[in-house]
Amino acid sequence: MRQSRLFTRTSKNVPHDSDSVNSRLLTQAGFVHQEMAGVYSWLPLGLRVLRKIENIVRQELDKIGAQEILMSALQPKENWDKSGRWDSVDVLFKIPSQTGKVYGLGPTHEEIVTPLVKTFLNSYKDLPIAVYQIQSKFRDELRAKSGVLRGREFGMKDLYSFHASTDDFDAYYRKVLETYLTIFSRCGVNAKVVEASGGAFSKKYSHEFQVLTPAGEDKILTSETGTFAQNTEIATLKEGDKNPENGETLELKTGVEVGNIFDLGTKFSDAFDVAFTDENGERKIAVMGCYGIGTTRLVGTIVEASHDEKGIVWPVSVAPFHVHLVGLKSKDEAVQTRINSIAQEMYDGLWAEGVEVLWDDREGISPGEKFADADLIGLPLRLVVSEKTLKEDSVEWKARSESDAKLVKIADLVERVSEMMK
Ligand code: ATP
Ligand code: MG
Repeated sequence: MRQSRLFTRTSKNVPHDSDSVNSRLLTQAGFVHQEMAGVYSWLPLGLRVLRKIENIVRQELDKIGAQEILMSALQPKENWDKSGRWDSVDVLFKIPSQTGKVYGLGPTHEEIVTPLVKTFLNSYKDLPIAVYQIQSKFRDELRAKSGVLRGREFGMKDLYSFHASTDDFDAYYRKVLETYLTIFSRCGVNAKVVEASGGAFSKKYSHEFQVLTPAGEDKILTSETGTFAQNTEIATLKEGDKNPENGETLELKTGVEVGNIFDLGTKFSDAFDVAFTDENGERKIAVMGCYGIGTTRLVGTIVEASHDEKGIVWPVSVAPFHVHLVGLKSKDEAVQTRINSIAQEMYDGLWAEGVEVLWDDREGISPGEKFADADLIGLPLRLVVSEKTLKEDSVEWKARSESDAKLVKIADLVERVSEMMK
C-alpha cells in the first residue's frame, strides 16, 4: 500500500473525548473512527489488524473441530421469551418493527444457536457439535468507555458446544482453554486464566482470560509465579493474603477480559428441548458450553499492552503491515529518481516474498513528520531510503521496539526481512 493513496490521515490532535490510550492512539493513527459513544468504524489499517486476529482465531478453532457459521443479528423475541431472558438481560437492544413486531438485536447468540442445533440433532452419534461465528454484537451498555474496550457495537467470536455427557463437555472445555491461550499468545498478548463467577453446573467457576494492564476494569487477585488467579467479584481471599498454592503474597492487579469460557449445563438445551437418543435408545438433553473472545476489544488491549509515548508497537502477527518503507526527499533530481526507483524495487521485492509493506511515498512531507507517523502507526520494522543510505548501498533498518537503527545492504534486504518474519 502506498501511503499517498491511503485515504486516512494521522492526526496530531488528541481527540477531545478520548478516555484511554487505545482510543487516542487508534484514532490519531487512523485505525478507527468514532461514530458515537461506544460505536466505531474500522478503517483500512484497523480492519487489517482485526482481520488478522480473526484469522488466528479461525485457524485455531478449526483445529479443534469447530465449524464456522454466521447467525442472524436480528433475533425473534419468542426465543428470548422461551429462555426467559427478554426482560432480564438489561443490555438487550429491542428493535420495534413497523409491522408491530419487536426484535432483539443480538448481544449474544444462545437463543439462536440452541434451537438451530436442535434442528439437526437426533442421536448421540451426532455429538459433539461445536459451532462458532465472528460477528458484530450489540449491547446497550450503560456506560461505553475505554475506547474499543467497551462498546455498544463490537466484534466477538462466540463458540457454542453441545455434548452427550458432562465428561465429554469437560474434555472439550479444557481443549478450548488451551486453544485460547494459543490464540492470545499468537496475537502477542499474555493472557492469564482467571477464575470468575458463572460456573453453574459441572464447574464451580467460569474462566476469564485477563490481560493485566492498568486500562482494565477487572480486579484480579494473583501472585507472581503461582497459577492462582481469581476475579475479586468471587474471591474469598484478599490482597496481602497468602496464595494457598505456594504461600506467596497475593497482589491486586487490573486486567482486561479478552475472553471467557462458560459451562452452561442444560440451561438452554432444557429451554429449547435439545434432546438426542443415547446408546440405549433413551432420550437425553445435551450439555452445553459457550466460549467468547472480544475481537475488537482485543485490538484495543494489544494497544494498551504494547505502546510507548510515540505510538503503537504492533506485534508482527497482527500488525496491519510488517514494514514501513520510508523514502526521503533529495534536492538533487538524479538522486531523487534513484531513491524512488530503489524504494519501488524494495517494495515489489518484499511483497513478492509475502512481506506486507506500507510505503510512505508522500511528497512534501518532512522526514520528521514521516518518522513521527511511522512511530504512531507502529509497524514492526521501519526501512528508510535516503541520499545518505544510498551512498552506502544500504537502507536504514529500525525495529519499532528498539531505539537503535543500523544500515543494511540493499542486496541483503529481502532475505534479512524474510528472516525477521520467521
Ligand atoms: P464484561 O465482563 O467485560 O462485561 P462479559 O462477561 O459480558 O464481558 P461475554 O458476554 O462473555 O462478556 O462476551 C465475550 C467477550 O466479548 C468478553 O470476554 C469480552 O472480551 C467481549 N465483550 C463483552 N462485552 C463487550 C463490550 N461491550 N465491548 C467490547 N467487547 C466486549
Ligand atoms: Mg465478564
